[in-house]
Amino acid sequence: MITLALSKGRIFEETLPLLAAAGIEVLEDPEKSRKLILPTNQPDLRVVLVRATDVPTYVQYGGADLGVTGKDTLIEHGAQGLYQPLDLCIAQCRVSVAVRADFDYALAVKQGSRLKVATKYTAIARDFFASKGVHVDMIKLYGSMELAPLTGLADAIVDLVSTGNTLKANHLVEVERIMDISSHLVVNQAALKLKQAPMRRLIDVFARATQAQA
Ligand code: AMP
Repeated sequence: MITLALSKGRIFEETLPLLAAAGIEVLEDPEKSRKLILPTNQPDLRVVLVRATDVPTYVQYGGADLGVTGKDTLIEHGAQGLYQPLDLCIAQCRVSVAVRADFDYALAVKQGSRLKVATKYTAIARDFFASKGVHVDMIKLYGSMELAPLTGLADAIVDLVSTGNTLKANHLVEVERIMDISSHLVVNQAALKLKQAPMRRLIDVFARATQAQA
């Protein structure tokens, strides 16, 4: 049995077509079912649904043989011991800095004052502002980052941006693009050795589907 870890939402939805290209179908819809282990039409492949930030952990410790996870998660939570054979080029977005439309970000950065930054990506944000020589007070949040500048909790946020609609709806503007993000295949190295043939087959399925979509 091969276990593939996915998270609900964009990663699940955008991984399905890659599997479907090789005739692999997930037999339950996670939006309709509360099951966390989903069978597929391949008797030796199942999908487990985990939080996006837990995918690397499941794969690292063998709770899943492979998984799909965002580059943001890999950078922020570490990717120790994980083989990363493929950029699947799905769930594409970017990590950006955003502020209220009436906040003078350029001036705040130039003056060398301390910037209050709210984010769940504290490692990415810390590295980015350190490389610019900007002093920051980091405020760790777990969601609804857009609210922080609107309530005075922070001057700026560091968050994922895709279409920019969420920022716009909250009167925030993107002032810096830190990095582009897409989802990657991550593989447990021991599983790759122990279940070599089926694991290689599945990695090939992803490789071919990714090339076909490029
Ligand atoms: P958008 O309004 O399209 O710019 O999307 C921004 C919102 O969706 C933010 O709340 C992000 O945290 C979230 N988001 C955007 N892209 C992704 C992604 N690839 N994976 C997870 N969350 C995302």
